[in-house]
Amino acid sequence: MLRAGKHRHKSYEQVAATDRGYCEWALREGKHYGTFRDFAAWLRRTHGGVVEFGKYRGRFYDELLDTQEEYCRWALALRDPSDRMRGFLDFAEGRAKRKPREPPAKKSKPAPPPPPPPPPRPEENGGITCKICFAEPVKAVFYPCGHASCEGCSALLNSVCPFCRADIVVVVKAFL
Ligand SMILES: [Zn+2]
Ligand SMILES: [Zn+2]
Repeated sequence: MLRAGKHRHKSYEQVAATDRGYCEWALREGKHYGTFRDFAAWLRRTHGGVVEFGKYRGRFYDELLDTQEEYCRWALALRDPSDRMRGFLDFAEGRAKRKPREPPAKKSKPAPPPPPPPPPRPEENGGITCKICFAEPVKAVFYPCGHASCEGCSALLNSVCPFCRADIVVVVKAFL
């Protein structure tokens, strides 16, 4: 709330929104008058300051930062900024430090789901694939011929080896 001047009894926000020239004046001269010092400090804290020159004259620093990206890039790239430009640049740099800009979200497609793992091969389970069903690991050895199959197949054999037609006397559990 301003306590003096032509905008007496108006809130800082109101004056900032309606009278840029006044803000400019307060920032420049406010330090000489106690009443306006607070207002000027508030302006600096909230908006950084008022541009006093060029085509954006009368704009608040933060407005420029938010809306005129091109201009800000140009200003920040100046090798030898004038004193009046300095104020704006200090504000821009200070703000950049306070809240670093989020990098733009990557618009990459979501990663495709990984392919399903291939079904485990019996060999990888430490066994040899049954030569009858080609699915299960060998777990049974026929005695005496020595051929072998998985447990399921060995149970179906009618005591004759399917590979060599020899009689199977006994089926031995294999530990391969
Ligand atoms: Zn089998
Ligand atoms: Zn055999």
